[in-house]
Amino acid sequence: MRRTKPFILINSFLLMVFAAGCLCGEAAAQQRPEIVSRKQWEAKLPVGKGKKHKIKYITIHHTGVKQRPDLTLEQKLRNLQAFSQRDDKLSTGKFKPAWFDVPYHYYIGVDGRIAEGRQIKYAGDTNTEYDPTGHALVVVEGSFGSEEPNAAQIDSLKKIVAWLARKYKIPAEEIKGHNDYAETGCPGKNLKDLFPELRQSIR
Ligand SMILES: [Zn+2]
Repeated sequence: MRRTKPFILINSFLLMVFAAGCLCGEAAAQQRPEIVSRKQWEAKLPVGKGKKHKIKYITIHHTGVKQRPDLTLEQKLRNLQAFSQRDDKLSTGKFKPAWFDVPYHYYIGVDGRIAEGRQIKYAGDTNTEYDPTGHALVVVEGSFGSEEPNAAQIDSLKKIVAWLARKYKIPAEEIKGHNDYAETGCPGKNLKDLFPELRQSIR
């Protein structure tokens, strides 16, 4: 009896450690939202050489065009990549040179699904006057000067921002919108109104 008791105790202790480990593992897995990978949306390879950077900020955009529930997320990403990687004109008539890849790192579709854009190790691109080096760029589908982000989009935005903030140790005050850095209407008032709540959720 005197020999079995410590043995049972040690076993119980190990079981507890094991159970705690499993719970932590599960919680950690839940932190990363489900993301449609580049492979899943059939991304083409980037063109040319990307600029490596270290993430210090999270910057939120809107696509600036009306939501398209008639297209799949995968189609939208393929279209965006084709547009990004060629010389083209913007809706403003301004010239846009061919970019390395999709300008944003994560894209939240109208259905709330999240897709991987440019690989996050590479700095993004912009048509406006700020340097996106060090910014994790998240874009939400819609034109939020007039449209409203829907519940699924808000939920995914919260999840991805929380995950990125934890992963790169970004403080709540470095979660901002495109128009905090450049002259633009992006990401639209109806999206920007959610930012205080978004910052609160990571504190
Ligand atoms: Zn923007």
